[in-house]
This record gives sequence, structure tokens and C-alpha cells, in this order.
Amino acid sequence: MSRFFSSRYAGLTPYTPGEQPQERKYIKLNTNESPFPPSPGVLKAVSEESQRLQLYSDPESRLLRGALAKHYGLQTEQLLVGNGSDELLNFAFMAFCDENCPAIFPDITYGFYPVYANLNHIPYQEIPLREDLSFSFEDLPDRKGTVFLANPNAPTGIAKSVTEIEQLLQKRQDSVLVVDEAYVDFGAESVLPIVNRYDNLLVIQTFSKSRSMAGARLGFAAGCAELIRDLNTLKYSTNPYNVNRMTSAAGIAALQEDAYYRENARIIEENRRFTTDALRELGFFVPDSKANFLFARSERVNGGKLYRDLKERGILVRHFDKPRIKDYVRITIGTREQMEALLKEIKAILEEQ
Ligand SMILES: *Cc1c(COP(=O)(O)O)cnc(C)c1O
Repeated sequence: MSRFFSSRYAGLTPYTPGEQPQERKYIKLNTNESPFPPSPGVLKAVSEESQRLQLYSDPESRLLRGALAKHYGLQTEQLLVGNGSDELLNFAFMAFCDENCPAIFPDITYGFYPVYANLNHIPYQEIPLREDLSFSFEDLPDRKGTVFLANPNAPTGIAKSVTEIEQLLQKRQDSVLVVDEAYVDFGAESVLPIVNRYDNLLVIQTFSKSRSMAGARLGFAAGCAELIRDLNTLKYSTNPYNVNRMTSAAGIAALQEDAYYRENARIIEENRRFTTDALRELGFFVPDSKANFLFARSERVNGGKLYRDLKERGILVRHFDKPRIKDYVRITIGTREQMEALLKEIKAILEEQ
């Protein structure tokens, strides 16, 4: 820290992204990226749009929001696009939390939530997951507060049903519920279809996972027009051109090639089934995941060691050195070949124990 660093952020611990090694080629199963390339139309759209780089992007992203509105059956005013969904999550913390309205989220969830709360000087309450890593809405406090729900949850992969979320929305009408659906396309239920019925529901999705666009940085928020206006106030106070031309064009093209991405998600679900079964056969505890990753723990090798041994063998997974989950590793679901390579190395590691 320099002696000039603002005292406002002196205690801030930033988010730690998963490794993106440049020095060696790994089988990369650590940051939940898609193993599949973007569709051909996306590549073409990016290349064409790059010829207009001298011009600012449309601050309203009208074409992209129009395409999203059509795709999901919403009004354009109900949508805001962002530089990754991370940016929109930050806006949601800024917009819908304060001293009298804390953020509320599980103790084990997306690691960015406490960072955004701290960054914005927002009080927050963490609700412990149950022993089996499930999150029961019965454990939520009755008080006012904005609940942030990653659904499916990260890093557990466990998903809530729309019915359950709808009950929560009805019970907490005086608070906003933010549902972070980063992984919803891999077999979970989205609450986008009920957005029109609740003025306290904000849904956030990303093109980073199921749509193979992590490097392009594109997310969107959907909710009633008033909630979206609040988020826009913050967007226009930070960066009006938050989504660049190429990314915007890529997003529109990806929506037109939806069948490609649906098929890829189906393959990921199939490989998830295969890998879950194989890991359980090896004695791992693996909760049922609806995401493109698994959270797995073995009695025979602790999470830190498994992570290091796999890395030595050329496979990257994610390990969180946090009290309740340090025995686990999080494994991104890749191609069938990648999963077979992973299982082969895990078997070898277990045999060495
Ligand atoms: C990956 C992820 C995001 C962020 O996605 P970007 O759009 O790449 O910023 C948001 N929430 C959760 C739970 C994620 O895992």
C-alpha cells in the first residue's frame, strides 16, 4: 500500500481470481470456462465490428438489449448490459444496500459478494450453509436486507427451484432479491420468466460460461424498469460505454446461434453426470450439481494436496483455502477427453496415498 492510498479502502481484501497461467499448457478446469469455442457467427461479428473501433459504442446498447428482450420475452427497459456480470453485481450492491439495508448471502458462495459489500462500505450478514452444503431459506433472518442468491450456488453447484424462490419473493416483498444465474443454463430453472410479476426481483446472467465468451466480458441484468433505472444511474456515473462494440456484436450473434450453445450445455451436463458417477465410485462426496463444475471431497486426500498434485500432473482445478471448504476442490466440467484425463490422474494420486 502506498502512503497515498485512500483510508477508505485500507482494509479492503480484493477478490482472488482463479489462475490464468501463461507459462505452461494445462488442462484448465479451474475457472468454469467453456471448453468450446464461440460460434462462427460470433467470430464474424467481432471481426466486422472491429472496423468501427474509432467510434464510441452505443451507451444504451439498444441493439443488444433489443436482441435480449426478444430472446427472453421482456421489454428493452427491463434490461441492462454490463462489462461482465461482475460489474452488474457491483451496481446491485451499490444500488440496493446501505447502512439500514444490509446485504445477506450464504457463508459459502461467490467470493465477490463480500468484496463488493466491503468496497461499498455496506454491512452484510453471512448465513451458514447446512452441513450438506445446502442453503435453507428458513435460515434467513426476517429483517429487511438485500439477499444475493447465486443459483446454482458457487462453488457447490446446488440449485433452488423457481417455486422456492417465488415463495421467498412473496415473503420478502420489502427487500430486493438478486438472483445470480451465472450457471443456470446447465440444467437449473431460471426465474427470468417471472421477472414481470415481482418488482423486488433482479436477475443477473452472464455470457461467460454457457456462451463461451468469458474473455469478451458480457453480462445482463433483468428486472422491472424501476430497478433497471436505478442501476443505470450508477452505470452512467461510472462508465456509460461499459460494453464495447465487439462484445456487443458478439452477444447479438451468440443469441442468433442459440442452438449451438444449447447443444454444448447438453454435452457439459452429460460429462457432469459421467464425472460425478466416477468420482463417487472412487469414494468422493459430490453434491448433485446443476452447474458446469463439481465440488468434491475425498477422505483419502485433502483438497490442498489434491489441487497441488493435479497441477504437477498438468491439470488445474480450484482450491479454496477457507475453513469449511478446504477439504474440497472445485472441478470445471470440460470435454469427455479432459474428464477422462482428470479421472486417470485422480486415480493415480489416490493410489499413492
Ligand atoms: C463467473 C461468475 C460470475 C461472473 O461472471 P462474469 O460475467 O464473467 O463477470 C458471476 N457470478 C458467479 C456466481 C460466477 O461464478
